[in-house]
Amino acid sequence: MEATEEEAMPHSQRMIAICRTAACAANGIPYPGTYYAAPEPPIYRGVCMGCGQPITDLVPVRE
Ligand SMILES: [Zn+2]
Repeated sequence: MEATEEEAMPHSQRMIAICRTAACAANGIPYPGTYYAAPEPPIYRGVCMGCGQPITDLVPVRE
């Protein structure tokens, strides 16, 4: 995957991802990142780097 700097691409969205897995070291810590729209729901998906579980708390960043 290419990870270029924050260019405003049509189907990218800045999101704050927060892991809600209780046992995860990253639990409750917001991680900003750029997400790309998937062809089918859920449109934006994230996986926690700490525990490998899907991120259930993804909040769009308004710019
Ligand atoms: Zn996690």
